[in-house]
Formats: sequence, C-alpha cells, structure tokens
Amino acid sequence: MEIYIATSNLHKIEEIKQILKNVEYRIKASPKKVEVDENGETFLENSVKKAFIYGNILGEKVIADDSGLVIDYLGGFPGVMSARFMEGKSYIEKMQEILKRMKNAENRSARFVCVASYYDPGDGILISAEGIVEGRIAYDIKGESGFGYDPIFIPDGYDQTFGELGEEIKMKISHRSKALKKLFSLIEKIKSDLRKK
Ligand code: IMP
Repeated sequence: MEIYIATSNLHKIEEIKQILKNVEYRIKASPKKVEVDENGETFLENSVKKAFIYGNILGEKVIADDSGLVIDYLGGFPGVMSARFMEGKSYIEKMQEILKRMKNAENRSARFVCVASYYDPGDGILISAEGIVEGRIAYDIKGESGFGYDPIFIPDGYDQTFGELGEEIKMKISHRSKALKKLFSLIEKIKSDLRKK
C-alpha cells in the first residue's frame, strides 16, 4: 500500500522517507505540486488542510506535516509563520534577523513543533499527532546539516545545533520524527479497532 507525502519541500520529503523507512507502507513523494494557502492559526489547522487538499486531489492516502520554530522570547514567533517569515530571503538572512531580535535575550528557550496528519479519502479517516523537541536558540549560526532553522536550534541534552549534530541524531529526536512515529502507531491502533467492529 502506498501513502503520498503532501508537500513539495524536498528536505521534508527526505526526512519523512528516512523516518518511515520501516513502516509497512510505501512512502512516496506527491506526483503533483499542489498549492495550499497555509493561512491557519495553528499547526493542526494547516496540517489537516494540507492532508485534505492533497488527499482529495490525488485520490490517495496522504500524510501532511505542518511544522515550525516557536521562540518564547519572541512570543512564539515565527511559529506557523516559519516558512513565510521574510519570504524570498535566504535562511541565512532569516536566521540573522532572528539572532538580531534576540541579541539581548537571556531566555533563549524554544521548540520545534510538528503536527503530522494522515488522511484516506477512500474511507474518510483522518488522524493527527503532534511531536515537539525542546531546546534553545544559539548565539551564532552553526552547521550545514538539515534545513531551515536547524543551524540556530540546540536541542535539550546537546551543546550543538541540529545543523552540527547531523541527520542521525536529528532523525532520532526531532519533532517530525516524534509526530510521525506517534501517527503511525495511532493509524495501526485505530485501523485494528475498526476491523474488530
Ligand atoms: P511548513 O510546515 O511547510 O509550513 O514549513 C515549516 C517551516 O518551519 C520550514 O520551512 C522551516 O522554516 C521551519 N521548520 C520546520 N521544521 C524544521 C526543521 O526540522 N528544521 C528547521 N526548520 C524547520
């Protein structure tokens, strides 16, 4: 059985395939690029919206992920705006701007949040799960691994950014990995409960 990934972000596709390499489904990139206006107020709203739109257009089972960086000192910013903040600028410029806004911040606590959603347009089943990795904002941009804001985020329990820690550690502890693992165990549980009825 196949499940399509409701995103055109190549980094996310790679991470999701890697995280889900042992599930019983074949996880595939979407064959179509679909425009979704991600104007929801929460990660859950955007995640469900992406899953519904992709699922109904493709007519196939899909998983969608909406995620972002939540910084306490900035009142939760960039949060659901993580992708659209300073749109058109590079991530180096976006990270420089965040570090500038945090220049005098002692409280550097932050978290990456991901809400992953599964939708099957055949039976109408929709399931969502959240994953969070707590950490702090670094003082400098460091490391080249990963994508987006990885070079300024230091996860709890480590002294280096996701950009420096590399793929293997990120895959184990990331928000995306936690959300997707929860999501797949929920899919199994809910489908097996439904089969019994
Ligand atoms: P969206 O979920 O497509 O709206 O985009 C989420 C945005 O949040 C990404 O484009 C990145 O800017 C940021 N983001 C989400 N997850 C990660 C991550 O694992 N590392 C770095 N940045 C991330």
